[in-house]
Amino acid sequence: MAVSIGVVFASMEQETQEILSYLITYQNTLQKSFEFRLVSYPGDDPFLNLLQQKPGPNHDEAAAGAEDFALRVKEFSALQADLYRLQTEQIDKIVLLTNTRFADNYYYIGCPTWAIIALGNWHKDCAPPSIVEYYLNILVTAALDALGAGIGRHYLTRACNFDFNASLRDKRLSVLAGNICPDCVAKIEAKAGIEFVSDALILLKMNWLGDSNTPSAVASTVKKLGFDLFHTTGAKPSLRERLLATFEQEGLKNLLSVTFQILLAIAVVVIGLKK
Ligand SMILES: [Zn+2]
Repeated sequence: MAVSIGVVFASMEQETQEILSYLITYQNTLQKSFEFRLVSYPGDDPFLNLLQQKPGPNHDEAAAGAEDFALRVKEFSALQADLYRLQTEQIDKIVLLTNTRFADNYYYIGCPTWAIIALGNWHKDCAPPSIVEYYLNILVTAALDALGAGIGRHYLTRACNFDFNASLRDKRLSVLAGNICPDCVAKIEAKAGIEFVSDALILLKMNWLGDSNTPSAVASTVKKLGFDLFHTTGAKPSLRERLLATFEQEGLKNLLSVTFQILLAIAVVVIGLKK
C-alpha cells in the first residue's frame, strides 16, 4: 500500500510553489509506493508566525511545534472535505516545504509523521542542481523516513540520500547522484520491501524531468511555467535567466521583442527625467 505524503508550503515564492506543485504531484504518475497530496491549511496558523520570524527560529524551536501543526493540518483537511461531503483521506505524513532559514542552518528535520524542508539557506552557489531539485530530492528522503525503517544518517559522505551534511552546499552531491547506499537499501527493503527502493530511485534519479527542449518533456512544461530547471539558479529566475529561457523557447523573434520592450521602458524613463 502506498505511503501518503501530505505536502504543504509556507513562505515561498508563488512561482516556485506552483512549479513544485506540478512536479511533486507528477511523481504520482511514475511509481506506486508513494502518493504525494497537496494539502491546504489556515493562513493564520500560529506555526507560520514562527517560521516568518527574522532571524528564523532554531530547528528545535520549529520541531517543538511541528507535531501539533501537522495535526492541525490534518484536522483542517478533514473539515474541508466534510464541507464538500467528501470522504476524509488518510495522510501518513505531513511535509512542510518552506523558504525559511533556520538560525542554526539545519535544512531538514522530522520524524516518520512530519518533516520540514527549509531551504532559506540555499544560495545560487549550491547550483547545479536547482533549488527545485533540492526540494524534490529531500521530499523523497522525507517519504522514505515515513516508512519508519530507522535509517540514521551516516557521517562520511558517499553521495547517499542519507548522508549527514552539516551544510546545504554539501547536500548537492547526493542530489546530483540520486543514490541510496547498500546499507540504507537493506533497511528500507527489510521494513517495507524492495519496490520502495526502486520507486524511490526512479524519483531520485530525475531522468523523468527530461530535456527542456523536448516539447513533451516535463522540464519543457516547467519552462513554459517560467522556470528553466537547467538555467535557473535561484528561487526566482533572474532577468538574464528569463531572457535566456525565452530565447531558447521562442527564438530570436521573441528575444528581440523583449529587448525592444526593455529599450522602450528605458526611453520612457529617460524622457520622463528630462521633463
Ligand atoms: Zn546510506
